[in-house]
Amino acid sequence: MTSASTTQVTIVGAGISGLLISRHLIDQGASVTLVGPEDRREQTLCTWRNVQAPDYYDEHIAGRWRSWQFGADNMTIVHQSDEYWYEALNGLSFKTSLEDYLSAQPKLTRIKELADTKKQSNNLFQIDTASSSFTSPNLLDSRPPQIGEKTLIQQFYGVTIQTEKGADIVKRPILMDFSVSLENQKGVVFIYVIPFPRESILVEATFFGTSQLEESVLKNLAQHWINEHCNTDYVHDSPIFEEKGIIPMGPVSFIHNGNPAGIAAGSARQSSGYALQGLERQIKKYQELNDLTALSCSPYSSLSKWMDKVFLKVIQYNPALGKDIFSTMAKSLTGDEFAAFMADDFSIKDSFKIIRSLPKTPFLKAMISR
Ligand SMILES: Cc1cc2nc3c(=O)[nH]c(=O)nc-3n(C[C@H](O)[C@H](O)[C@H](O)COP(=O)(O)OP(=O)(O)OC[C@H]3O[C@@H](n4cnc5c(N)ncnc54)[C@H](O)[C@@H]3O)c2cc1C
Repeated sequence: MTSASTTQVTIVGAGISGLLISRHLIDQGASVTLVGPEDRREQTLCTWRNVQAPDYYDEHIAGRWRSWQFGADNMTIVHQSDEYWYEALNGLSFKTSLEDYLSAQPKLTRIKELADTKKQSNNLFQIDTASSSFTSPNLLDSRPPQIGEKTLIQQFYGVTIQTEKGADIVKRPILMDFSVSLENQKGVVFIYVIPFPRESILVEATFFGTSQLEESVLKNLAQHWINEHCNTDYVHDSPIFEEKGIIPMGPVSFIHNGNPAGIAAGSARQSSGYALQGLERQIKKYQELNDLTALSCSPYSSLSKWMDKVFLKVIQYNPALGKDIFSTMAKSLTGDEFAAFMADDFSIKDSFKIIRSLPKTPFLKAMISR
């Protein structure tokens, strides 16, 4: 695929990736057909953002912090950062505003139906929906990819509740609280908490493992944490919203036609599952090169891909070490160093500091194993 400015592009999937890519292609002068139902899922989308970065999403920002914390074995590790925000966006508000923006664009055709795609022999793609059938020379597909059997997954269930005591209990985002545990499960489990302004908090139970858990298991963990810390029972006081998902932490297979986009194109950082920043980088690369294939290439540096691969191998084969590894890493890095690592904005020198802080034997084994 080449320049978008004179071409027609069909995008399948109207999640964050399909919507954001459509907006940028339209802004570059392309004609876009976006196919897929409106995505009304609640999502809190967090990112480490350099404080100097422009405010693209101002109206959707649900909160922003220069400090965050970790908890393990009755110990709290607090990070303070001068250079980065931990920023939370209201994903639903963001998606709704992108839909609104696109609906006013004459070069956008919006089909809010599921699509089925085929490759035709003459370099055209066939796209079928319940009410239409058409061909397109360029097809970007942002539907979820297939996650390999051995690929680690991040599964989470989160609930946002109203709590008058929210700001007292949680003063800053808790990225990992290891005070919860699961019997007989091979994986790492923790609670993640975001304190929103206006007395509400998101409490999310997260599991890193190779097989999926029953949703109720994670729901119970979140409920347990809320009972312990908030003195409220959200089952009876209905939650403001729930959000859940499964994000790959490792290689995925693109199972559709055309070129992958979004998570299927590696937008999710392997060690964290965070995908928004990866998507932004893919779009930036596309704008620099004016080449649609940039949207389908991994946006992460070779150094971070290598670090993530080793890191995930260690977690996968030694899940019991997960808590120690994450807390040692949190303890040995400053807030700026940690955020720079998470934002893939770090140097080889920084990577040595991270490696030095981690248990040697499992990491050496992971580095030399294939
Ligand atoms: C609850 C939640 C919280 C997250 N939190 C963060 C975070 O804090 N930070 C971060 O960076 N990332 C986060 N992520 C990861 C990532 O940003 C999201 O997964 C994001 O939704 C990825 O967007 P996407 O458009 O690539 O994929 P998806 O959101 O999976 O969108 C795919 C779209 O394809 C559509 N579709 C499926 N089948 C068809 C079909 N046959 N035809 C047409 N359309 C179809 C679906 O309806 C969907 O809208 C989170 C994910 C979830 C689910």
